[in-house]
Amino acid sequence: MAQQLNLILFGPPGAGKGTQAERLRKDFELPYIATGDMLRANVKEQTELGKQAKAYMDAGDLVPDELILAMAADRLNEDDAQDGFILDGFPRTMPQAEALDAKMEELGRALTAVVLIDVSDDEVVRRLGGRRTCTENGHVFHVEFNPPKREGVCDLDDSDLIVREDDRPEVIRHRLEQYHAKTEPLVGYYDHRSILRRIDGAAPPDAVAEEIRRTLATIRLEQDEAV
Ligand SMILES: [Zn+2]
Repeated sequence: MAQQLNLILFGPPGAGKGTQAERLRKDFELPYIATGDMLRANVKEQTELGKQAKAYMDAGDLVPDELILAMAADRLNEDDAQDGFILDGFPRTMPQAEALDAKMEELGRALTAVVLIDVSDDEVVRRLGGRRTCTENGHVFHVEFNPPKREGVCDLDDSDLIVREDDRPEVIRHRLEQYHAKTEPLVGYYDHRSILRRIDGAAPPDAVAEEIRRTLATIRLEQDEAV
């Protein structure tokens, strides 16, 4: 039986997980399971679990972990996820991590690695806080990395560029606080099990992708030797 590459992608907001997941998906031919997207798809397609989730959402409540896990389990049972997967957005808390472990065991599988894309708080604020979004069509610019030709004006439709609520420095700092308080304990949890792989996320995207690729290739080699 081929060895599986069951991965969790981890890191603060603004770490570039989406970009890296896209690369991984192509390089290793693994399905990318972003739990937010998965939840929305279930609701849209009105699956049994999606209907249950919608009832919570309509009531203004958080969708319970068990429902998210049940959706993830369904997804992991699909054909394309048999050799592995890239999970993003779950787990975010210790109880979720423990629940995921139990579910994986139930499925007769185990996590191969937790890839942490490590980025400092200041870098996150610099990346997200510099974003400017146009009011007309949502085009996104960045004051430092992708500035518009004229300050405060969209290159494409001349509408005003604004700082979205989510991109305000105080909102970003709050999200980072949440991340450090709730999610960071998971880093220690997975490190203790020797499956944490720390990647320097401050490097340019290509270099980050190369480091992840090398890390996973090493894991594959170790798996082969262990057989
Ligand atoms: Zn625009």
